[in-house]
Amino acid sequence: MIPTTVIGSYPIRLDGVKYAKAYHEGAKADAVGESLSKAVEEQVAAGLDIISDGQTRGDFINIFARNFSGVVIQTRPTVLKEIEYSRLSTIDDQRKVRELVPEGVEVKGIITGPYTMAKSSVNRYYDSIEDLAFSYARGLAKEAEELDGIVDYVQVDEPFYSVDYPEYGRKLTETVLKGVKKPRMLHVCGDVSEIFKELAGFKVEVLEHEFAANPQLWETVKDVKFKQKLGVGVVRSDLNRAETVEEIEERMNVALEHMDASRLFFSPDCGLRNLDPQVAYKKLENMVSARDRLTGRS
Ligand SMILES: [Zn+2]
Repeated sequence: MIPTTVIGSYPIRLDGVKYAKAYHEGAKADAVGESLSKAVEEQVAAGLDIISDGQTRGDFINIFARNFSGVVIQTRPTVLKEIEYSRLSTIDDQRKVRELVPEGVEVKGIITGPYTMAKSSVNRYYDSIEDLAFSYARGLAKEAEELDGIVDYVQVDEPFYSVDYPEYGRKLTETVLKGVKKPRMLHVCGDVSEIFKELAGFKVEVLEHEFAANPQLWETVKDVKFKQKLGVGVVRSDLNRAETVEEIEERMNVALEHMDASRLFFSPDCGLRNLDPQVAYKKLENMVSARDRLTGRS
């Protein structure tokens, strides 16, 4: 069976009236928690094998950046002095997810990569992006190690690798994941044709990329020798329309032309945050149906 999963984010649903009421009562976190429960519920209902917390608590940079001392959040995180990771960011949410998921459904924990954090910050202290990135990485390693005890997979997201890959990328990602014993995943969205050879050398168990928006990636992937499993994006995250089961099955068939089924995961290309909730749900449901049809499960 080829497992189906997500990259991470899911539409945020806040009941405005309830949220305002909770906010005034000082219970803001619980109103957000409802959005998390909904994300979990829908991913499970869609039939996914591995789900996330939906990253419903907020922006994928700030959720980690705000817990580094030395960083103030303006429109972007601004680094004013030496940074230190003073508080874990996603652990409480992941514990909650664990309680909500039925037996047989696995959970992935997601960490925004230090390079993407550094490139998204205003740096007023460190001599270089590299210094800042490694400082972020040492902090995020604490999050990864703690997550390792709760979830089934630990994923690092580094969208900036496809835009501007640094020669220390491998060492940086490994700094975050060094204490992790569960299967490690690296998600890089965008077109990774130029750097896939580099990524193939990373010490992770799964590489996850956007094959629905970038089908030309197969041209590169088929010529590179790599031992990781491959997370193949089979629905687009930038298209607010749910692809049909047939369309998705076609993309899955292309994946099977290039890879053995035992080395595949299927997922959306990237997070689903910006889609209409019904579209996001339908994409997941159709993806699971396509996988089931392909593998003769229904
Ligand atoms: Zn992505």
